[in-house]
Amino acid sequence: MRRRSLVFLAMSWAAAAAVAQPGPLVAPMPEAVVVVADRVFDGRGEVAEGRAVVVRDGRIERLVAAAELASDPSLGGLRRIELPGSSLLPGLIDTHVHIGWSFGLDGRTMTADGPESPEQRALLAAENAARTLRAGVTTVQSLGEELDLELRDAIARGTLPGPRILTSAGAIVDPGLEPAQLRLAVRGFQQRGADVIKVFASASIRVGGTPTLSQEQLDAICGEASAAGLRSVVHAHSPESARRVAEAGCTAVEHGALLDRPTLELLAERGVYYDPNIDLVLRNYFENEERFLGVGSYTAEGFAQMRAAVPRALETFRAALEVDGLKTVFGTDALAGAHGRNVEELVYRIREGGQPVLEAITSATALAAESLGLGDEIGTVAPGYVADLIAVAGDPREEPEALLAVRFVMARGAVVRRD
Ligand SMILES: [Zn+2]
Repeated sequence: MRRRSLVFLAMSWAAAAAVAQPGPLVAPMPEAVVVVADRVFDGRGEVAEGRAVVVRDGRIERLVAAAELASDPSLGGLRRIELPGSSLLPGLIDTHVHIGWSFGLDGRTMTADGPESPEQRALLAAENAARTLRAGVTTVQSLGEELDLELRDAIARGTLPGPRILTSAGAIVDPGLEPAQLRLAVRGFQQRGADVIKVFASASIRVGGTPTLSQEQLDAICGEASAAGLRSVVHAHSPESARRVAEAGCTAVEHGALLDRPTLELLAERGVYYDPNIDLVLRNYFENEERFLGVGSYTAEGFAQMRAAVPRALETFRAALEVDGLKTVFGTDALAGAHGRNVEELVYRIREGGQPVLEAITSATALAAESLGLGDEIGTVAPGYVADLIAVAGDPREEPEALLAVRFVMARGAVVRRD
């Protein structure tokens, strides 16, 4: 009998060993932890001093007064992460990046037909993801390419460090397609696993941003996306193109650098999110001009247009802040050279754009989450939410640059950075 059970045990171990996989690199911590900082920004505009956050099984279990930590016996045995001098916030959300866009092997911006192998592209994208996460951005919407799908899934499996990725896996660009073809294109993206539909409805700012899709075409795309249960986000710079986006019932206007007040008011009235990208993407172009010049529409004239767009985009952003009910979210359009620098845009919006600090934080947390359809899961520090948390040194209300001083990042309950 004893011998039989030993054999049975040995066989069980062998079976277990045969199916055992190496553990994920980024696993939720097994035990509950208490994260203690000087204050907690909840992501919805409230700040609580002297609060600690209890995290269990990758979710926020509750917030407790720091003073209770010593007296509450249920908290006594838990591991503590003490972050004195820090502010705790929800992990930040960037609603517009290109996570797979890097500088290539020759140091210049990568193109679809460049010399990089798929493996090299994937590794560069993984590097972008790791940089982004370390900077405190725990979720991105990548608008985006096919490569994003594998990266998204690898990060979700816990095998690679990176932000949660939602991707469009490409974009609908061709203005020559008929409505029926556009509907098919939407379903094609859905079948390939896209989380969102990305559409180009205006030309680039480098060539004036005029409309490229008709009302009928946009109605077909955004209508089909809604029917498929997908959000639709639309590249649109000019007022005319953005008005069509609103009329078609799409989810968001991306960029919108040239929008006027009546158009911004229309977006507010229709509940269309506005995702301006006013600093980082442009400044990154200027800082890396020689890496872009000569590729596609990156001409000297295009760069002149982008320089002219800087004050215009800032003016539009300031006007947007004045529009009641307009849901302006935090997106950077981060591409080659800008990954991991996302928060620079947030500081610019506060310093140059005049956005109040708490409103800026909400635009990059609770409001951004809502715009992604994840408002009940992420972007808020409250019981039940996913434990995506960051800590920055100091108090961003006193100095917005504190948002750049990330010293702690927890993603889905796992500590991925602690300085
Ligand atoms: Zn973009």
